[in-house]
Amino acid sequence: EAIVVSELANRMAERVADVVKALMQNGIMATQTQTIDADTAELIIEEFGHRVVRVSASDVEDVIQQTEDAPEDLKPRAPVIAIMGHVDHGKTSILDAIRKARVSHGEAGGITQHIGAYQVETEGGATLTFLDTPGHAAFTSMRARGAQVTDIVILVVAADDSVMPQTVEAIAHAKAAGVPMIVAINKIDKHDADPDKTRTSLLQHEVIVEKMSGDVQDVEVSALTGQGLPELLEAIALQSEILELRANPDRQAQAAVIEAKLDVGRGPVATVLIQNGTLRQGDIFVVGEQWGKVRAMENDRGERVKEAGPSVPVEVLGLNGTPEAGDVLNVVSTEAQAREIAEYRQNAARDKRAAAGAATTLEQMMAKAKADQSVAELPIVVKADVQGSAEAIVQAMEKIGNDEVRVRVLHSGVGAITETDVGLAEASNAPIIGFNVRANASARATANQKSVEIRYYSIIYDLVDDVKAAASGLLSNEV
Ligand code: GDP
Repeated sequence: EAIVVSELANRMAERVADVVKALMQNGIMATQTQTIDADTAELIIEEFGHRVVRVSASDVEDVIQQTEDAPEDLKPRAPVIAIMGHVDHGKTSILDAIRKARVSHGEAGGITQHIGAYQVETEGGATLTFLDTPGHAAFTSMRARGAQVTDIVILVVAADDSVMPQTVEAIAHAKAAGVPMIVAINKIDKHDADPDKTRTSLLQHEVIVEKMSGDVQDVEVSALTGQGLPELLEAIALQSEILELRANPDRQAQAAVIEAKLDVGRGPVATVLIQNGTLRQGDIFVVGEQWGKVRAMENDRGERVKEAGPSVPVEVLGLNGTPEAGDVLNVVSTEAQAREIAEYRQNAARDKRAAAGAATTLEQMMAKAKADQSVAELPIVVKADVQGSAEAIVQAMEKIGNDEVRVRVLHSGVGAITETDVGLAEASNAPIIGFNVRANASARATANQKSVEIRYYSIIYDLVDDVKAAASGLLSNEV
């Protein structure tokens, strides 16, 4: 077991330079990119007054390591389908129409539960799993957390509106994820529907549908009249056959969280989609930073089930906390194991947050910027009560600096600090300066969560002094 010096500093939320110095005082000459052994690391950790967590990342992985399945153990599984497309092009309508079609087939007495995903059976007998949170925000955030659950993307394009900005985004997301698409040309019932125009527009985005001699299936549908929906389901079943989706039902389950919430009556509840294996009542599991024991499971028809196999969405009760969408659930053997892994992950996440938080002080941001390039730029976002103050601050900030450091105002505006400001600041790792204005509640919450620093001032000189101090501190304090 060994660790890179900068990683050690990061986990302790200490400055790399301080860690290098501490190592030096112990007679070890190591730069931040060098590796030190576990014993040395432990010594340093204790010197900084931190606690040594004995579970290592590799121990955690060992426990939940998924061994490869033997080919003969793999059985076909249902495809998992996400519906994407421009707003108002009919994503929700198509999901509802498909779900209703199933209900009218006589199943489940007409009661469906919105648990985040549902299954339908096609006329041809194929089972399909639909994620019923439309839009690519969910798709992307799940992917960002490491859960690739979607097998097929249905790209909905309204025939009266053709390709729009979010259509293009959806294409980009599907391509980035390497997930095949099927184009549903919707609203075909409308008098101004022009499906061929849609097909031609898609060409410009390198989506070549079958009718244009490409290999992307396209189906004309109307969510309103139901026209084309059976054909859409068959197109999905066909695509799914081509993909040869398989999983092993005879092993401990791995699943992905689709939705999770804290229910007043039932405690933390998560809808998970089984990716491999079978999840059973009584199974002990870790899921992200949480753990639990399956107390009960409900399917998308609100029925109690004792087990759920690959591609089946179920609501799980019995968690000790609320996980996040995209977290992966793994069944483990003992409660002690589950608890230990969850605790390890909680600690690691906390350390990471602390490190991120520390990095947003003006001084450290300057230092970081300096390390990255020859001229350090400190990006900032400025919000002020009146236009005059905003301009004065921008001018004052632009005067600070020299050949080596400078301040760059990313955005300046008048009014309270909002979530949009926080988003901008987060993306550029910038602090927000509030001059005689405050952040609204949602901006404060987001800033806290994303570790974006907000500094309040009412005197311009104080602000200038602070920024100058950060800049000159950097100049005199070379790492
Ligand atoms: P989403 O934003 O993509 O989920 O779109 P919605 O499903 O909410 O649909 C937007 C609007 O288009 C709603 O007013 C629907 O009633 C309407 N709409 C959806 N599909 C069709 C269709 O096939 N034909 C017609 N005429 N209207 C539709």
